[in-house]
Amino acid sequence: MAQRFQTAVSLLYPPRCLGCGEMVERDFGLCGPCWRDTPFIAGSVCDACGVPLPGAEDGHRLECDDCMERPRPWTQGRAALLYKDRARRMVLALKHGDRGELARPAALWMARAARPLLRDAMLIAPVPLHWARLVRRRYNQSALLAQHLSIQTGLVQCPDFLVRTRRTQPLDGKSVRQRFADLDGTIRAHPRRRHRIAGRSVLLVDDVMTSGATLAACTTACLEAGAAEVRVITLARVAKDA
Ligand SMILES: [Zn+2]
Ligand SMILES: [Zn+2]
Repeated sequence: MAQRFQTAVSLLYPPRCLGCGEMVERDFGLCGPCWRDTPFIAGSVCDACGVPLPGAEDGHRLECDDCMERPRPWTQGRAALLYKDRARRMVLALKHGDRGELARPAALWMARAARPLLRDAMLIAPVPLHWARLVRRRYNQSALLAQHLSIQTGLVQCPDFLVRTRRTQPLDGKSVRQRFADLDGTIRAHPRRRHRIAGRSVLLVDDVMTSGATLAACTTACLEAGAAEVRVITLARVAKDA
């Protein structure tokens, strides 16, 4: 029945490439040229932030210069895409353009990138938006990604586990030091959700990692609330040369 309904829907709305709108054979994907133009991260990566690194994997933990300079409070991190070109446009469309349909394939790519991070009984938690920003934008793209990631991985999510205690100014254009200072103490665990996290592994979900300041503030909040450890997955990672 569901299959027949799905077929009927596909006939009405033939699957389109998320990059260019061309018709594609399978739903939730990209056409060949768009796939080739999308900067998926593969090969050796920094184990803390997921940025690609030169050289072959040799089984040892690799870290990029940024993560060595500023050790991350989380255990491990990955990203599906490099934040540039088509990936950058997709992230911005997801954030501002009401292109919620991007969240499902994006979560698929994230689930694949997050495979080494996944643990039994892990709790998925999105990076929160301040409520004022949520009202203006109508949805939190990180919560949307977390929701689809929960479906993809079968792990439970808690959409309001973390809350912003005060509104912060946009971080764009600020120095790394300023970003970390601005966010310090602005995120904490929801008092009524703390019991869900005690002794558990948490998978934090965000759309983009730039300096990592927001993810660090979220990680600290999870650890203070009693999480055993935190890992992070983002749709895209800003690399220095990007
Ligand atoms: Zn395309
Ligand atoms: Zn790194």
